[in-house]
Amino acid sequence: MSTSDLSRAQMMSRGAAATAIIDDIHAPSATVITPSVLFVDQSGQLGGAEFSMLPLAVAWVARREVLLLSDGPFRSRLESQGVKVHLTLDHGVSRIRKEGVRLGWLGTLPGIVRQVRAIARQAEDFDVLFLNTQKALVLGALGKPLHRKPIIWHLHDIMSREHFGVMQRLMVKWLTRYAVDGIIANSHASAASLVALTDCRPEAVPVVHNGVDVREFSSVDADDIGTLRRRLGLPEGVYLAGLFGRLAPWKGQHIALEALARMPDVHLVLVGSALFGEQRYAESLHRQAARLGVADRVHFAGFRDDMPAWMKAVDVILHTSTEAEPFGRVIIEGMAAGRPVIAAAAGGVVEIVRHRKNGWLVEPGMPALLAEAIETLRAAPELAQRIADQALNDVMQYFSLDGYLAQMKRAMVAVTG
Ligand code: UDP
Repeated sequence: MSTSDLSRAQMMSRGAAATAIIDDIHAPSATVITPSVLFVDQSGQLGGAEFSMLPLAVAWVARREVLLLSDGPFRSRLESQGVKVHLTLDHGVSRIRKEGVRLGWLGTLPGIVRQVRAIARQAEDFDVLFLNTQKALVLGALGKPLHRKPIIWHLHDIMSREHFGVMQRLMVKWLTRYAVDGIIANSHASAASLVALTDCRPEAVPVVHNGVDVREFSSVDADDIGTLRRRLGLPEGVYLAGLFGRLAPWKGQHIALEALARMPDVHLVLVGSALFGEQRYAESLHRQAARLGVADRVHFAGFRDDMPAWMKAVDVILHTSTEAEPFGRVIIEGMAAGRPVIAAAAGGVVEIVRHRKNGWLVEPGMPALLAEAIETLRAAPELAQRIADQALNDVMQYFSLDGYLAQMKRAMVAVTG
């Protein structure tokens, strides 16, 4: 069934239990039907895509459940907030990487078929299938002849050759044309990359930027930075830069280490771990720090659950991705923490950061320029504070959680008619 087939009357006839009628926040006079949704995500780990789906699944007013293709902390987060989670696991399918197709893939075919069927079976009880990741897209959309439900794909990626292999790009092209009913992109950069890949109309890929709950940041008591740092085991009385996010080559933690080597008395805390098989890179960072002679000024904190506290404990927040970032949640989180953010100017980042106004933009992959930016903000605390204040205002205005949820809901309801 295509989206156009799913008329309002049909949805109502599927039973009141499956749908809820509520007033849309931005259109109080109009009554809209909220469809029941099966959310599907390939990851059990917590990355940007999962953190953006979490509040959406939690707040969805109609019946909704989540199907994960891997187990991990994402499941417990969802469950602890009252969301029912199903798992369908296949070791072979989990190991398929987005970058390239190997002949070994043939061996995973039975697993792929099993997962396609498992998703289709779960989808039968819902009005809509919401696919949150690349693998969820492929497996969920391939099963469309079985489940025949409208499909919404939340695009969190830049569909470029740098990020994806030929086969994945071909699959996306084909599936978005023939099986997906609605796409929502997390940035104009992600949307543009899909338009370039598929030749679809730009209007077919609406953009909804991520949002964060500023209250989670304002509730951290950071008046006494010394106490906060002591609690987190961070050095007191030093100028401290923070880099937040999973350890992966394209996230550019090595660029921050090189920049640090140019600034003798600055410290750096790296918060995050290797989530998707980037263990070797994580180890190389320790070796690089030792080689550069900065190991005593680099603090590896690992994955942390309490980002607001860690962000508020630093003087400046760095974003160092060497490739275009699809969105960069850590940037709006840093802004919500009221800290100046220095970010690599590529992809979705330039949709968030206005240079010298609400943040500081640097050319990606350039340690010397990064060090210069850090030194500039360090030497001008009033400028840094002005930027941080504006950043906080901008987050509240343009990247709030409530705004995000309302826009997502509107876009999702639009897909289902
Ligand atoms: N994150 C976290 N703890 C960590 C490292 C990262 O909770 O130790 C969160 C971070 O706060 C952000 C998300 O992981 O919400 C990363 O999202 P982003 O869009 O920046 O990057 P992605 O992982 O999606 O590429």
